[in-house]
Amino acid sequence: MAMPTQAKYVIIGAGIHGLSTAWHLAERLRASGRGDGTDILIIDKAGIAAGASGIACGVVRNNYFQPAMRELMAQCVEVWESDPKAFSYHPVGYMQISSETMREDVASIHAQQQDIGYESVFVDGAAESMTYMKGIFDDWQAKGITSVLHEKKGGYANNTASMYGLAKKAEDLGVRILTGVEVTGFRADHGSAAVAAVETTRGTIACEQVVIAVGPWVNTLWTKLDLPKTVSIKDSQGRLHDDIPMWRYWALEEGTLGVDPNLQKTNDGQMPPVIHVDTDAPLHSDVDDSLITEEMWGIYYKPDFNFGGIQGGAMPIKVETPVDQVAIDPYGPDSPEFIVDDNFAHMWCSALAFCQKRFEGQIKHYKKEPSGGLGCFTPDSFPVFDRFRDNVTVIADSNHGYKMIGVGKLVAEELLGGKSALLEPFRFARYAEGRLHPTSNSPFPWS
Ligand SMILES: Cc1cc2nc3c(=O)[nH]c(=O)nc-3n(C[C@H](O)[C@H](O)[C@H](O)COP(=O)(O)OP(=O)(O)OC[C@H]3O[C@@H](n4cnc5c(N)ncnc54)[C@H](O)[C@@H]3O)c2cc1C
Repeated sequence: MAMPTQAKYVIIGAGIHGLSTAWHLAERLRASGRGDGTDILIIDKAGIAAGASGIACGVVRNNYFQPAMRELMAQCVEVWESDPKAFSYHPVGYMQISSETMREDVASIHAQQQDIGYESVFVDGAAESMTYMKGIFDDWQAKGITSVLHEKKGGYANNTASMYGLAKKAEDLGVRILTGVEVTGFRADHGSAAVAAVETTRGTIACEQVVIAVGPWVNTLWTKLDLPKTVSIKDSQGRLHDDIPMWRYWALEEGTLGVDPNLQKTNDGQMPPVIHVDTDAPLHSDVDDSLITEEMWGIYYKPDFNFGGIQGGAMPIKVETPVDQVAIDPYGPDSPEFIVDDNFAHMWCSALAFCQKRFEGQIKHYKKEPSGGLGCFTPDSFPVFDRFRDNVTVIADSNHGYKMIGVGKLVAEELLGGKSALLEPFRFARYAEGRLHPTSNSPFPWS
């Protein structure tokens, strides 16, 4: 593609949010007669799916303790369901299986799912949970479980395939995707905060609106926009906590057990729901029975033909390096620093065996290939979707947003002058104003 010198809408990043925003914006422009996809330019420094969206496990669920997250996820699941084939989406459902510490939280999630019409079943009690799980997998054996939330919707999608599906929808409407070009800065007109042009490694591109959807790289462009490196957060007692870093990194731990994915079929021969287990039951090694942890732990897994086995992960690891010094590139499996090690394989495979007998003794099949990747998180680990500098929309999903395919649809509406009630709870001002989301007892920062 010849290097453009101007585009009405410049979207930075060809991951889930950049691509979804472009597709929906192109649709809306055409429907309203206010333009079309040729008004939109996506710029990516590498290529389509080069970031977190291209390595994500791909789990799509509603299970969040925060009401605003659940409402947003319900909208996102509708977008996934709108074209499962194009998005390589598998609507197998999702199960949150928990110990007593989380039972009440999960019961309240179920009650609110009923209120918003999101189909799910809640199983309450240890014996009831065991019976329910054995009805699906006859080798279920996880100890200390007292509740099961079975979401009938959701499931997972294949990461790269879904990005190419989205890119095709956008390109079919005339959107241009410029790859191998990095945005290096922003230029404002004199006397205005608004961005008049983006500077790139191949020249300057004038624009009217900018969307930043750069996943783990958000801190870099946030800094170039002169946005605050720290925030003040008002807690529920009205006390202000100053100088809280705006961004921090966690390393996500994921891997694949290289067995036939059919191994995980249900008793009636179907592909199973995604399984997520959180428990405080002691976890022992499946290799030598040594104690791995007595603290709260959690894992998730699903059979996945794309990854070639049983794929999933465990709790992420906090990155202690100061945020501006974290080496984001090379990203994902190419990173020498942020990939999983043998400890992850040992813990995760032992946890699989804790849950289901069919995984006992299977650690020898664990795929010893680099996996996992960095994620950039906000102060409360929930997304920031907001507009800055008059014409710059930042989509920062706090690294649990592969599932949030519908956010681009809502952002597209806002780019054309609308206001989205679903995005409102995720504005930046919530920190200073104390409009925080409730926190759960989950061992994961994103639940
Ligand atoms: C290992 C792992 C597993 C995950 N699993 C799940 C899951 O199961 N479910 C879930 O919901 N979420 C999951 N996530 C989180 C999810 O992947 C991310 O939240 C989401 O993909 C972020 O999408 P994005 O569009 O914001 O950014 P990305 O997909 O990261 O895309 C950003 C793009 O921006 C480009 N870019 C960066 N800087 C510039 C620049 N200056 N100029 C031009 N281009 C630039 C990059 O090349 C990249 O292609 C996972 C994350 C990881 C790391």
